[in-house]
Amino acid sequence: MIRPPPACPLPPGSTIGILGGGQLGRMSALAAAKLGYRCHVYAPESDSPAMQVAAARSVAAYDDAAALAAFAAAVDVVTFEFENVPAGTLDILAPLVRCRPGVEALRIGQDRVLEKRFLEVAGIAVAPWREVSSRAQLDQAVAELGLPAVLKTTRLGYDGRGQAVLRALADLDTAWARLSPRPLVLEAFIPFEREVSAIVARGADGSAVTFEPTENRHAQHILDLSIAPAPVAAGIGAAARAQVVRVAESLGLVGLLALEMFLLPDGRLLANEMAPRPHNSGHWTMDACLCGQFEMHVRAVAGLALPDPGRHHDAVMKNLVGPESYGHWPELAALPGVALHLYGKSEAREGRKLGHATRLLPLGTVATAPDPGALAPL
Ligand code: AMP
Repeated sequence: MIRPPPACPLPPGSTIGILGGGQLGRMSALAAAKLGYRCHVYAPESDSPAMQVAAARSVAAYDDAAALAAFAAAVDVVTFEFENVPAGTLDILAPLVRCRPGVEALRIGQDRVLEKRFLEVAGIAVAPWREVSSRAQLDQAVAELGLPAVLKTTRLGYDGRGQAVLRALADLDTAWARLSPRPLVLEAFIPFEREVSAIVARGADGSAVTFEPTENRHAQHILDLSIAPAPVAAGIGAAARAQVVRVAESLGLVGLLALEMFLLPDGRLLANEMAPRPHNSGHWTMDACLCGQFEMHVRAVAGLALPDPGRHHDAVMKNLVGPESYGHWPELAALPGVALHLYGKSEAREGRKLGHATRLLPLGTVATAPDPGALAPL
């Protein structure tokens, strides 16, 4: 049976299906609840952070066609919170139910080679790179790009997993043996001044709203701090926003998209990665804006208007990664001016994102602070 197209905007009481059970799904579901929507979370793991706050759940594999058909029948629209959901899952769902964003954004976002080609075609500058399928191609790529360079897996890499910095020819054998699956990507090492990211929400009517770009600082390849707004010249912030909008438009994306970029000392931006979903570097928007990234995501997916974010504070967000930093939750919960978010994960493992805390600061504080990173809540 062909289902009638869903009402636009989706009325309150409608059900948003979310593929993926992590913290991004959890915070999307909480934002959806604020607008009167129900969320149905589909993930292979039971008791996932998103399932704990969802109205309905399906615990099933991403290739379980029967479970996916039942899920499609139970929801009004589908989105995803995790870009390593197999593209085949959306291929099964797309004929049955509206999917926002669609499969193309997912396919490109989960494959570094497709992503870099796509960004280049869209006119977005990226670091010089080569696709590497054999050891001989690695030698050739190193000869062309020089050292240092960064060797990365093409798929399933996140939080710096699946990459190695090559500083000398002696590093090639170990890195080649360690990294899989292949092909890999070799990138020139970029001596960036800062890392920044920008997030856009785009509606089905083509309207687009951006958040102010964020400066991101990493520890052990995992996001540690986000500083908002990024303390960069106004022209650089505007360029970062224009780039993320251009990427979303090129994709025809409906939903949310984040673009991570390197800022070079000469003011140029090079795109590093895109994610067609809410992004860790946008967590500060939940507390420092009237309409944060998760609500913006829900609005785009549900066909609601996309308002100006209405940023009312500067913010510094600290990720709580692993048991040591998570252990500070009682003192963070007691700190005035700090918003604490804990993800309900069943195990506090090393290297896992377990929560975050955002310190809210009066507008203008970040631009004038000698080191805004020192304003982090922890
Ligand atoms: P990625 O997995 O691509 O997001 O990379 C994780 C982190 O590694 C980035 O946020 C950077 O801090 C660093 N990194 C990645 N690629 C490069 C590069 N080409 N040059 C310098 N640093 C990089």
